[in-house]
Amino acid sequence: MPKEYSKSLANCLCFYNPQPSDKNTCASNAMKKALILAQSLFISSMQCATIRPMKHHKLIIIGSGPAGYTAAIYAGRAELSPLVAAGPEPGGQLTTTTEVENFPGFPNGIVGPDLMQAMRDQATKFGTEVVDASVTKVNLKSTPLSITIGDEEHTTDCVIIATGASALWLGQTNEQRLRGKGVSACATCDGFFFKGKAVAVVGGGDAAMEEATFLTKFANHVTVLVRSDKLRASKPMIKRAEENPKITIRYNTVVTDILGEATVTGLKLKHVIDSTEEELPVGGLFLAIGHRPNTDVFRDQLELDQKGYIVIQNQVLTSIPGVFVAGDVADYRYRQAITAAGWGCMAALEAEKFLSHKE
Ligand SMILES: Cc1cc2nc3c(=O)[nH]c(=O)nc-3n(C[C@H](O)[C@H](O)[C@H](O)COP(=O)(O)OP(=O)(O)OC[C@H]3O[C@@H](n4cnc5c(N)ncnc54)[C@H](O)[C@@H]3O)c2cc1C
Repeated sequence: MPKEYSKSLANCLCFYNPQPSDKNTCASNAMKKALILAQSLFISSMQCATIRPMKHHKLIIIGSGPAGYTAAIYAGRAELSPLVAAGPEPGGQLTTTTEVENFPGFPNGIVGPDLMQAMRDQATKFGTEVVDASVTKVNLKSTPLSITIGDEEHTTDCVIIATGASALWLGQTNEQRLRGKGVSACATCDGFFFKGKAVAVVGGGDAAMEEATFLTKFANHVTVLVRSDKLRASKPMIKRAEENPKITIRYNTVVTDILGEATVTGLKLKHVIDSTEEELPVGGLFLAIGHRPNTDVFRDQLELDQKGYIVIQNQVLTSIPGVFVAGDVADYRYRQAITAAGWGCMAALEAEKFLSHKE
């Protein structure tokens, strides 16, 4: 606490003392009182400084993948000065991959993190503020809407949810090390890189059958590894896979290790009935065991389907006015960067319309 502050406070107290019998006593008593008063004032002012005022925004975008940043670019250009909460994975899923060859505008491909940095730069150029923190709590039933980013509460007239979905992985050590080096969770994205190679797909549902069938366009052979003794996929999907001469389905089989130094060279497999082990030489491993939409924070706030995806109405709307959705957080079908980006554009256009009607 500055000494000068206490001294001048003491002078004030003495000055307002109605009958000062002794100027020195007054000064010393006043100094003591002033010290106590100044201390408490100083502490309160410090406390005030730590309680930040709540910030209000026209639009908060939750998520910084292709959906979130595209929404931010459109909203920024519409002068809505959006705030983006970038979340636990700034830039989204594409930051975990190398070459992206199917995003329009890049005939020679572009690496995922570069593409996402370019989207971020484009968003901030048009007045978007990006906070590298996660949304920890929302109240979408209040007016204005309340969004807590980290431990800071913000209010907003409108929100776009673009929190994506995370692929489920086997959880093995070598799996993460070899991600993007032969291990993938997206055949549409990475299948092209496996021309003429043998690959394996893990999973027994529709997604696994679809991925396996798609991969036969490139791979010379696809082995589908199913943990149980039957497939969960629909009959037509199973029939298609079973009739494909390039696909072998192996039941009761699990992957116990992924082999390879720089890239995947094979898999260690275990037969779950007789515990026999073997090695399967493959150049790639595709996981098709599901995705988990990042919607935990919206539970009890929005309608979610059985798998946790946000239930949307009319493309990007929710049951709550001013709450819009974009990208993989509601899309279990296409799950591509370009579809997520297109969805982000639609959500921003709807948000802009909503806000202009509100004014
Ligand atoms: C390895 C890999 C390779 C791929 N390759 C391709 C490809 O070549 N071409 C292609 O088109 N697609 C590809 N995809 C798919 C593509 O990445 C996704 O379809 C796309 O990223 C979905 O975009 P999104 O914005 O909906 O969500 P995401 O990209 O998943 O982004 C979600 C965002 O939400 C944020 N978030 C989550 N929770 C919170 C929270 N609580 N608070 C704030 N933010 C939060 C995350 O931090 C993240 O920024 C690939 C995916 C993977 C995993």
